[in-house]
Amino acid sequence: MCYSAEVMSMKLIASVAEPTLEQALALMTSVSEVADGVELRLDALGRHPVEDPTSVLAPLVGATAKPIILTYRPREEGGYAAASLSERLRLWSKVMAWVEQRGEVRARLFYDLEMDLVEAFLHASPLERSGVLPWERVILSHHRYDAAQWEDVLALYERLRAVPARFLKLALFAHDLGDSLLIFRLLERARQEGRELVGIAMGRAGLLTRILGVAYGSAFTYGAAATGRETAPGQIPVSELRALYRIAELGRQTVVAGVIGYPIGHSLSPLVHNTGFRLLGLDFVYVPLEVATLDRFMRDFVRPETRQMPWRLRGLSVTIPHKLAVLNFLDEVGPMVRRVGAANTIVVEGERLVGYNTDVVGGTEPLAERVALEGARVAIVGAGGAARALAYGVRERGARVLLFGRRLERVRELAEAIGAKAGALTELAAHSFDVLIHATPVGMSGYPEQELIPEEALRHRPLVYDLVYNPLETPLLRRAKQMGCPVLSGVEMFLRQAAEQFRLWTGLHPPLDALRERVYTALS
Ligand code: NAP
Repeated sequence: MCYSAEVMSMKLIASVAEPTLEQALALMTSVSEVADGVELRLDALGRHPVEDPTSVLAPLVGATAKPIILTYRPREEGGYAAASLSERLRLWSKVMAWVEQRGEVRARLFYDLEMDLVEAFLHASPLERSGVLPWERVILSHHRYDAAQWEDVLALYERLRAVPARFLKLALFAHDLGDSLLIFRLLERARQEGRELVGIAMGRAGLLTRILGVAYGSAFTYGAAATGRETAPGQIPVSELRALYRIAELGRQTVVAGVIGYPIGHSLSPLVHNTGFRLLGLDFVYVPLEVATLDRFMRDFVRPETRQMPWRLRGLSVTIPHKLAVLNFLDEVGPMVRRVGAANTIVVEGERLVGYNTDVVGGTEPLAERVALEGARVAIVGAGGAARALAYGVRERGARVLLFGRRLERVRELAEAIGAKAGALTELAAHSFDVLIHATPVGMSGYPEQELIPEEALRHRPLVYDLVYNPLETPLLRRAKQMGCPVLSGVEMFLRQAAEQFRLWTGLHPPLDALRERVYTALS
């Protein structure tokens, strides 16, 4: 069989599931530039192509010159169609009869057929069958939502591979990031057997398979045609897969870094690091990893002697809630980690895992550029990881530190550890200080609104520094500005701690100005 260049380079498919013909047409047309092909979800369309295939299919097929996968997904496999097996068979026989007569488009039209459907077709007597399936354009698929073990996955794969369809597709719901390993293992098996498999772990925990799947052997992968138009759990827009993660350029040789946290939310770290890798022409990728159970993740994905994930992992950013617990899994830590008692960065050095804390330098540097810290009185509100990092950083540069928080005993503990003074939050305004650093999540987008710092505490301050950076102008910074105080946003800390991680992983300094511009654009 001879395939066109377009079909051969079909790596990124935009899934289009719209209720009306007009909406589907608009999205297919607009997404065609960024995707290698389009999946048209007939099950989402209000109008079925059964009675009059021409009026439904002709305009849709004409909306793009790229390959199109036709799908009619039943409810039990995560689709919209409440259709019996015989109704599905009837729909497909109509659709195929229409497509197969159209020599001008047939070669770029694929059928996604579920395993039960194809098995029913194969078990029917030759008389009942309406013909043979064009196997070279069939994607034989199965979607599974309950927890699966390797033996189940293997059994499903065996059933799929017994069918001569060109592409096999298995989508499993990932209940934990560890479930993604089933897909990577299966991709390796299919590769060894020379079968073209599309392997996807659905759900947020399966995002890794959507980003790295093609590099590890998946024939192609799927993305949403636009933000907010996702057609499966955990799907992200094709534009992100293409431009941010550059999935078509990744291979097994690509060096991987990522961020671990729970929940991982909409972290800006992938934007910063991937932009840096792209601008410096590095074959690196940075992925978000939602890690619920740290020990399982460290064993199966990170520790060189036990990991099952066959990637070239260079390092990780570590965020809430793993910054303290991660210390138990490291072989070596830098001096700052020892003093602060938390790591936000892992570097994989051969067989060893080395921990660093880039929040200290990242948080302190921008402040030191604005005020002379030697002898300055610095008040810090908060007693968590960020407060700790800043307290150490400014102390090292000769500042006197006053710590304030809602739980006095916790604040006292930290103050004692670093040689600072502690006070209750209610006493903040009564103290004199030169710089105010806010290091709690109050003011962060999505966090319950609250006015933590009274107006009197902001009066005549030489600098107010809010570590919160989303939104760009926090309520605290707005109030401080209104009172005539100079302000410093947490964006600078975010950028500098990321730049230091980038340097630790690559040995290179990222183009900070370009990254700053990208982050400001994303936040504004
Ligand atoms: P953390 O370890 O969870 O500590 C949070 C601190 O905030 C704790 O001391 C907590 O008080 C206090 N807190 C939480 N809610 C509060 C409330 N409603 N009123 C008073 N105090 C409250 O978090 P973290 O890592 O230190 O991060 C804190 C914030 O800093 C983050 O939310 C983030 O916005 C910002 N941050 C920014 C960067 C950056 O790069 N710009 C980096 C790290 C963090 P208790 O001790 O009483 O629980």
